[in-house]
Amino acid sequence: MKEDITLIPELSTTGVYTLLLFLPKEVNLNIGKLGKKRFPEGHYTYTGSALGKGATSLKHRIARHLRRKKRRFWHIDYLLANENVSVKAVIVAETKENMECNMNQYLKKVMGAKVPVKGFGASDCRKNCGSHLLYFPEIEKADFLVQRIVKYLRSSSGYSFFFSRFRGMNNKVKKTPARNPPT
Ligand SMILES: [Zn+2]
Repeated sequence: MKEDITLIPELSTTGVYTLLLFLPKEVNLNIGKLGKKRFPEGHYTYTGSALGKGATSLKHRIARHLRRKKRRFWHIDYLLANENVSVKAVIVAETKENMECNMNQYLKKVMGAKVPVKGFGASDCRKNCGSHLLYFPEIEKADFLVQRIVKYLRSSSGYSFFFSRFRGMNNKVKKTPARNPPT
């Protein structure tokens, strides 16, 4: 299988992203100051944005999320450090706007996602999301979820890009030309 991490240099500097995670069995993990938390098996999304340059740019952020060994700083670092957790897909949209809460609320309200751990990844949240990690108890096949995320990001930013590590899923980059090129 092609190593998808090689696609990271193609990412734009700033944008919003959603990581699609899969957990094949329930785990109990210590999440920094949140303490010990239970994560049931299934699919999760984690949505964030990277609006800076250099170390705070989108490509650095995604590369960091995909690297297992690192100092644990964010809540998501504790989850991604667990050997059972896999990142199945990364969906990214180029934007300079902070639209992570909009993306997250779409997943909650339209896709029926639940808040698995209150306050997870939400220290910068402006819209009362409850958590930027979401859990999808009823989704067995996540390719549908990826398609909906791509569609949402495309309609709200005009540009989206995704790469995945899915078996049985199109493993190529999908780069959609911007209808309204980002300024
Ligand atoms: Zn939020």
